Amino acid sequence: MPDLRNVVIIGSGPAGLTAAIYSARADLEPLMIEGEPSSTSDQPGGQLMLTTEVENFPGFPDGIMGPELMGSFRDQALRFGAEIQTAKVSRVDLSERPFKVWVGDPDAAEPTYLARTVIVATGASALMLGLESERRLLGHGLSTCATCDGFFFRNQDIVVVGGGDSALEEAMFLTRFGKSVTVVHRRKELRASKIMQDRAFANDKITFLWDTVVDDIIGEDRVEAVRLRNVLTDEVVDRPAAGVFVAIGHRPNTDLFVGQLPLKENGYLLTQDGTSRTAVEGVFACGDVQDDWYRQAITAAGSGCMAAIDAERWLESQGH
Ligand code: NAP
Repeated sequence: MPDLRNVVIIGSGPAGLTAAIYSARADLEPLMIEGEPSSTSDQPGGQLMLTTEVENFPGFPDGIMGPELMGSFRDQALRFGAEIQTAKVSRVDLSERPFKVWVGDPDAAEPTYLARTVIVATGASALMLGLESERRLLGHGLSTCATCDGFFFRNQDIVVVGGGDSALEEAMFLTRFGKSVTVVHRRKELRASKIMQDRAFANDKITFLWDTVVDDIIGEDRVEAVRLRNVLTDEVVDRPAAGVFVAIGHRPNTDLFVGQLPLKENGYLLTQDGTSRTAVEGVFACGDVQDDWYRQAITAAGSGCMAAIDAERWLESQGH
């Protein structure tokens, strides 16, 4: 018979770990299934595992390394008795309660766990260009978050890749720090909204390179330049840059829930009325998997707290 748990948390970024801390302190004996090492990270723990220094997480006036911060979250969850399993959830069945959660073979007849509540905290992944050099340089001059890392590029030359609202928003933010900001876009028309385009065009520090793709990011242990190719002429140039921000979109990690939980038009999980409740009673969502707007570690942590409290009150209302 599979183990019946009060709370199963799927995902281990700031949202999942905060949900684990709160539900462990509420004596709900949560199980967090934290994921596994992936092609971009040697450890689970979400996007902060891919960053270097974090300077905007309150409580750390001198900054803290992303993996260290996540390690502290994890220790705090363990201290209060959360159980953490390093594995990937392969399937869920949310059609009836208790919910069913599989780890390992998704076709196994028996689920691995039964859960009275499920907290979904699977996060989102920044889309990357798919270059070998990205893995080496992420967190070393290559970033996917200007709010997080822009500060490190004071008076430096910065390149932003992308042509949507995110790319322009990042570019404008980065003009506060950089000596120059170059937006590299693969076409001649931007996808971004008109108002963002007008603002970016009016900003003297921003230059656009059209019909251009990044073929490589150059540098052994720090970004030194980008290799750019004009897709119309095939001309290749190396452009020196200390910072490269890839802003070509995010993908929420919702594959497990398609057909079981309603998604917004843009693929993010739908939560209700400013809470962590999903359309399925007893299933809660927090962090970037349901947040296409703020996407910060601190907002993810806050929403993880909300999910744990929502789950606790829901369990109570069910007499558990
Ligand atoms: P997006 O709108 O999907 O734009 C992605 C951009 O990256 C596009 O210009 C796309 O080029 C380019 N791109 C995609 N894959 C690429 C690749 N492999 N190589 C090079 N370029 C690539 O994503 P987003 O900018 O993150 O925005 C997501 C949503 O959030 C949008 O609805 C946006 O309006 C919203 N948003 C709004 C604001 C705001 O209003 N302040 C700020 C941020 C985001 P193509 O154009 O050629 O496809």
